[in-house]
Amino acid sequence: MRYTSTMPALGYDLHSHSTASDGSLSPAALMAYAAQRDVHTLALTDHDTTAGLAEAALAARAHGLRLVPGVELSVTWQRQTVHIVGLHIDPGAPTLCSGLERLQAYRRWRGEEIARRLDKHGVPGALEGAQRLAGGPVVGRTHFARFLVEQGHAETVQAVFKRFLVQGKPGHVAGDWATLEEAVSWIRAAGGQAVVAHPARYRLTATRLRRLLGEFRELGGVGLEVVSGSHSEDDVRHMAVVAERAGLLGSRGSDFHGPENPYVEIGRLRALPASCRPIWADWTPPPYPFDSGQAAANVEGLQPV
Ligand code: AMP
Ligand code: MN
Ligand code: MN
Ligand code: MN
Repeated sequence: MRYTSTMPALGYDLHSHSTASDGSLSPAALMAYAAQRDVHTLALTDHDTTAGLAEAALAARAHGLRLVPGVELSVTWQRQTVHIVGLHIDPGAPTLCSGLERLQAYRRWRGEEIARRLDKHGVPGALEGAQRLAGGPVVGRTHFARFLVEQGHAETVQAVFKRFLVQGKPGHVAGDWATLEEAVSWIRAAGGQAVVAHPARYRLTATRLRRLLGEFRELGGVGLEVVSGSHSEDDVRHMAVVAERAGLLGSRGSDFHGPENPYVEIGRLRALPASCRPIWADWTPPPYPFDSGQAAANVEGLQPV
């Protein structure tokens, strides 16, 4: 779908992954894939890295797709892992870059620790296996899961998570990621908008969710991912109310990781409920940074962290 300024709201997908983190399509292939579907504006939001954005910007331009430069930051809030998406970030912003370096260093240590634990549990070679499947600096649990499937320890990635990688299981390592305050400040320092990703997934009590969103807003966070690939219709309705009460804008993102997951398709999402103010309401239509060849060239010249 070629982008024009009168495009419908359904064409916004503001959460996706490429091979720069745990997605299965390269940034360029992801842009081509999205452009052939119902998407006109796509945010690439890889876990703790902006390394895919330069390639994505060039491909998006070639396909007439509007790319929102993004990132998904791993956060530990009250001993719970929470994901904060940054939209319209400048990937060259120094504060964001140093924050991402720290998260990636923690990720490397955590990968070694996961592998040590799996080794004790009779699964050798997991670090090398996960690194091979990641093919880049961001090694995540998804890569460990794919390795364990490859080695025949389980049938599916989901089954590996359940049996090995979640709390109480042999390969689980409690997170020690960025604080909420750090994550929001890095995104803001990079000129971006911070959004709480897939809020229903955390299974927080109403009180804890209210506390999280209250702190988030206080810190300068602006959005809640009301519509997510992992939200049910009830979740969407509920989160629309939560967003309105918390004074947050509504976002919409599939959390697409690749075509091999039949449940989450890029752009194929419920509409944002009418009670939500869309996060894109105030975005300027073109001219847009990535619509000009010069901007794409600038991004290409950045050193990915
Ligand atoms: P990490 O940031 O390395 O801890 O990995 C988190 C990622 O693992 C998420 O973004 C998902 O892509 C994936 N993931 C988490 N939980 C599950 C699950 N139960 N089944 C399949 N994938 C999962
Ligand atoms: Mn992921
Ligand atoms: Mn996430
Ligand atoms: Mn995600």
